[in-house]
Amino acid sequence: MQNQDGRSIETLLQHVADEKPSGSPVAPPIAQTSLFVFDTVDELWESQAATVGPPFCYSRITNPTLDIVEQKIAMLEATDCCKCYASGMAAISSAIMSCVQTGSHVIALDTCYGPTKQFLKDYLPKFGINTTFVDGLTTESFLNAIRPETTCVYLESPGSILFRILDIEAITSVCRDKGITTILDNSYSSPIFQQPSKFGVDIVVHSATKYLGGHSDVVAGALCTTKMRMEKIIANETALFGGALPPFPAWLLLRGLRTLPMRMNWARDAGRIVFEFLRDHPEVEEVFHVGDPDHPRKDLVQKQMTGSSSLLSFLPKFRDMDDVKKFIESLDVFQIGVSWGGFESLSVPLHYHPSDWPEPRWVIRLYLGFEDPYDLVNDLESAFKAIHETLS
Ligand code: PLP
Repeated sequence: MQNQDGRSIETLLQHVADEKPSGSPVAPPIAQTSLFVFDTVDELWESQAATVGPPFCYSRITNPTLDIVEQKIAMLEATDCCKCYASGMAAISSAIMSCVQTGSHVIALDTCYGPTKQFLKDYLPKFGINTTFVDGLTTESFLNAIRPETTCVYLESPGSILFRILDIEAITSVCRDKGITTILDNSYSSPIFQQPSKFGVDIVVHSATKYLGGHSDVVAGALCTTKMRMEKIIANETALFGGALPPFPAWLLLRGLRTLPMRMNWARDAGRIVFEFLRDHPEVEEVFHVGDPDHPRKDLVQKQMTGSSSLLSFLPKFRDMDDVKKFIESLDVFQIGVSWGGFESLSVPLHYHPSDWPEPRWVIRLYLGFEDPYDLVNDLESAFKAIHETLS
């Protein structure tokens, strides 16, 4: 079918009214495009040569929407660059792959996030890359595990179940002297409460699904590092594994990020209120919370962090699995679920056995969302009463 200027309707359909909109939308439009086109071949080549930021070429590498989010996260983390991925695991596996090769040795915390541990323990050995897991109770546990072939040390501080703290600088300073790359998962703190690059961490990773996104509507990851490292990571792990965050989830992440500081302040205050309630409760044996004024690594908390978030856990005095299930199922405002960092409060039972415990125990992990913290306290009190009635 032909139009009067001689072009067919199929051709016109692709281009009519595609001009850029006038005016300035206050919220950046989503660049929902797979590629970018150019007036000249030189411009195309220039875009292909650029690894970080504009000129954009192809959305598997980067995209204007993604670039806005990445610049904001890099600013928050005080690193040169950030790259966002389709999940926290995509960021974590890309970070680890960027500093290993066949024969490399990795050291990691034995209580690190489960799939990260699985990646190190079960997946990497098929490429001849082996990991020593250490309890992290002392800095020496990391340093004593260093071998000539160690290329990567993987850290979580705080951890996401017992919230143990590592002396980040003591570990990174030794690693840096030996040319070992350090990676730290900063999902618990978010950059609002901790900036690991200031303590010498080479690569900071996030499950942006958690606090960075903050609304339980996006799965994303972030990797923050120097420009020099990032250029290599983009050319290799980003371009070849193809896990960059697509434009729409990037836009959701951007929207979530804008309220991150306010949400973290809320999280800190809610965490304190619920911690104090649990600490004083007769059915609770121990509470694990970074904001505990008697935290065993209080000195490091003060040095490394400016706040504690709203993820905490406790050991109930009741030890039976059925009682733990009943407690969790008696909660009404807290929903049962594994993730955290969104608007909704969550609880999850974890059968946990760190190396320094004589036996496995049921730990109840709580994530406090944006409900009123006193409603959360009342909800917990009702669940304790339900258990008390069962036991008495
Ligand atoms: N790191 C921590 C501490 C986590 O809790 C999670 C997910 O729960 C991840 C990393 C992985 O993130 P994602 O689920 O976005 O892949």
